[in-house]
Amino acid sequence: MNLLKGLLRKQKCSFDVRLDWFVTMACNLRCDYCTLEKNTVVDKKHFETMCSNLIRVIDKTNKIFKINITGGEPFIVPSIIDTLEEITKKHFISLNTNLSLDRIKEFAKRIDVNKVSFINASLHIKELEKRGLLNTYIENFCLLRDRCFNINFSVVSFPPLANEASHYLQFFNEKGIRINFVPFLGQYNGKEYPNAYTKQELERFKIQLPRLSYYFRKGKICNAGYNFAFCWEDGNITPCLYKNMKKIGTVDTRIELRDDLMVCPYDMCGCPIWAYEPVLLMKSLLKTGRSTYLIYYILYSKAKNFYLKIIDLLRKAKKWI
Ligand code: SF4
Ligand code: SF4
Repeated sequence: MNLLKGLLRKQKCSFDVRLDWFVTMACNLRCDYCTLEKNTVVDKKHFETMCSNLIRVIDKTNKIFKINITGGEPFIVPSIIDTLEEITKKHFISLNTNLSLDRIKEFAKRIDVNKVSFINASLHIKELEKRGLLNTYIENFCLLRDRCFNINFSVVSFPPLANEASHYLQFFNEKGIRINFVPFLGQYNGKEYPNAYTKQELERFKIQLPRLSYYFRKGKICNAGYNFAFCWEDGNITPCLYKNMKKIGTVDTRIELRDDLMVCPYDMCGCPIWAYEPVLLMKSLLKTGRSTYLIYYILYSKAKNFYLKIIDLLRKAKKWI
């Protein structure tokens, strides 16, 4: 019931722009598949300056933002709760966290649940087991669930985990946590993922094939820079996850959102915000006079959902037989 309340809350958060803010590249875990530099430490002073500058530049746009707080591990930053309190006076937030730090308890107490669109609690099973933090993760989950936060649990489908995927699905299911395996994007054993997944691995992780198309968008229309963007630890703001793309601002100056949509030039889309925030994509299509494309998009999404349901039914039917 509390999870349902959380989900309904997400629909109520209404914002014009989503900005993914990499608050720090430091993290308390050391996952095998992590591409971040190890031993990075939090620069407290730099973070605090960044924070006040960022709030100033987003307020100058006269738009309502949802700031998606990400990293690294955001809760490793000592003053993160003060920052979130400040942002949520006017804007919304969402978070990516590994849910393994005690600061989550302070977050649950101090931050207005109505200002939090969702929490993506990425579950790094092997690393948590290794460090004896699995129970902390589960306790933090229970606390957030009891306070009706909208939580989503994602697990990276790292190929060596494939044989244990069903065990973990069941283990967490029994604790009331419905985990969701997300594709691993990167190299493992000389192979390039997600393309290298075998049929068996996809089945074990229950990854639906059409969902892989989210990551291949070259030549397709995208609202990056129009109503979503990324803010890096150094204060630069870019339209999408490709850091070398032309900046659309900095936290020290201003944000200049694009006034039209772009065509994706990249082979791989590492962070398909257009798919995670379909309402923003739809708004951008309407506002730029692409209603025909919008109709196509809605029909395509419906067809895709229908296709996903069929796959799911077939999978269940196979179990029954
Ligand atoms: S929790 Fe995330 S940021 Fe931290 S080591 Fe693991 S993958 Fe990297
Ligand atoms: S890679 Fe960037 S431009 Fe391409 S679809 Fe993804 S977000 Fe859009």
